[in-house]
Amino acid sequence: MVPGSFLGAVHRLAPLLILLSAFSPALAAEDPSLIVSRFQEYLRINTAQPNPNYSDTKEFILAQASSLSLEAQTVEFVAGKPVIILKWPGTNPSLPSIMFYSHTDVVPVEQSKWAHPPFGAHLDGDGRIFARGSQDMKCVGMQHIEAVRLLKQSGFEPVRSVYIVFSPDEEIGGHDGAEKLAESEIFRKMNVGVVLDEGLASPNEDYRPFYGERSPWWLVIKAIGAPGHGAKLYDNTALENLFKSIETIRRFRASQFDLVKAGLKAEGEVTSVNMAFLKAGTPSPTGFVMNLQPSEAEAGFDIRVPPTADPEVLERRIAEEWAPISRNMTYEFKQKATVHNKNGKPMLTATDSSNPWWGLMEEAVRKANGKLGKPEIFPAATDSRYFRLLGLPAIGFSPMANTPILLHDHNEFLHKDEYLKGIEVFGSIIKTYASYVEDSRDRSSRDEL
Ligand SMILES: [Zn+2]
Repeated sequence: MVPGSFLGAVHRLAPLLILLSAFSPALAAEDPSLIVSRFQEYLRINTAQPNPNYSDTKEFILAQASSLSLEAQTVEFVAGKPVIILKWPGTNPSLPSIMFYSHTDVVPVEQSKWAHPPFGAHLDGDGRIFARGSQDMKCVGMQHIEAVRLLKQSGFEPVRSVYIVFSPDEEIGGHDGAEKLAESEIFRKMNVGVVLDEGLASPNEDYRPFYGERSPWWLVIKAIGAPGHGAKLYDNTALENLFKSIETIRRFRASQFDLVKAGLKAEGEVTSVNMAFLKAGTPSPTGFVMNLQPSEAEAGFDIRVPPTADPEVLERRIAEEWAPISRNMTYEFKQKATVHNKNGKPMLTATDSSNPWWGLMEEAVRKANGKLGKPEIFPAATDSRYFRLLGLPAIGFSPMANTPILLHDHNEFLHKDEYLKGIEVFGSIIKTYASYVEDSRDRSSRDEL
C-alpha cells in the first residue's frame, strides 16, 4: 500500500468515525474493518435460489444474536426454511413492538458475468464490496444487527421491544416465509406496531423510503372463433379478435407510460402492462399450418397495479374492452394480488401526521445526518405486502445513498462507507422508534395508518 492511498482511506473514513463516535463512544473500540468483515461473512453464505444454504445462515445469525445476548427463536413453518426471530425486550412490553425485517435468500447469478466471485464478498481498492445480496438485502439484515450492537455498547435501553427478523424465500414469493409468519400466532403475540423492510438504492444523496407497492395481476385473455381457410376473409376469427384486444391494451400501456415519460407520475404510480406470451396457430411437422385460420388464440400479460388505482375500474376495463364477450373472448387471472388490505383499504402506509412512525423516521434519519427523499411506491413486490395486508404500517427502507441500483444485476456491490453509514442511520431509527411512547392509539387505530 502506498502512503498516499493510505492517507486517502483515512481521510475518507474520518468523518464517519467521528459521527459514529458521537453516536456511541464505545465504537471507538470497534474497528470498522471488523464490522465490514462480519458483513462479508454473511455475504459469503450462498443463499441463491433455488438452493439457498439456510442452515449456515441460521448458524451465522444465531451466533450474532448470542454475541449480543439477544433472545432468539427459530421457526420453520416449512421444514428447512427457517424464520429467525431475534428479540431485544423493551422495558414496557405492553407497547406495540418494532420489527426490523429482512430476507435471507438472494436471486441466482450468472457467474461468468461477474468481475469478482458473487459469493466472495471481494472488497476492492475503492472500498466497494462485491457480492450477490450486498444490496438485496443482506446489507440491511446485518445493519439491523450492527445497529443493535452499537446501541447496546452505548448503554441504550429500548422502551418498546425490538424484533430483528430474518425470513426465507422472498425471492420466490415469500409464501413459506413472510406470508406464513404474518398469519401466525407467533406474529400476533409479537404485537408488532410497525415494520421496516427493504427499499432500493439511491443514485443521489437522498435515501428512498417506500410506502406501498404495486400488486401483480397476471392476465390471460383467450379468443375463440370459427376456423376457416387461410384464403377467406370473414369476421370474428380468433386471431382478428385477439388482435383488436392487443391493440386496445397497447394503447392503454402507452397512455400510462406517457405519464411516466412526461414526469407526471413515477413508475410505481402507474399501471404497467407488458405482454408475456402469445399463443396461436395449428402446429405442423415443419412449423405451422399456413392455410388455416386457427379457432383459438391466447395472450398473457404481466400487469402491475398501484395501490392508488381503483381495481374495480381496471377489472371492468378488462371485461368490457380487453376481453369482451361480444368478441367471443374470455379471461382468467393466473395471479391477482389484492390492492386492498383485510379492512378493504388501499395497501398504503400513511406518510402524513396520521402515522407517527413516518415523522419519527424522518427525524431519526435527519439526526443521523441523512435525508429522506419523497415517499415512493415500490415498482415490484416485496414481503411488506403481507404485513400491509394486516393493516400494519410498513416502510421499505434500505439506506444506500450515492449507489447505483444493482439489485438482481451482475456485479452487485455496496461501498463499505455507505454500509457503515447505514448502520448509524438504523441505530438512530431503532433508538427513536424504541423510545417512542406517545402512541396511545396502538392496535385499535392501525387501520388508519
Ligand atoms: Zn429483496
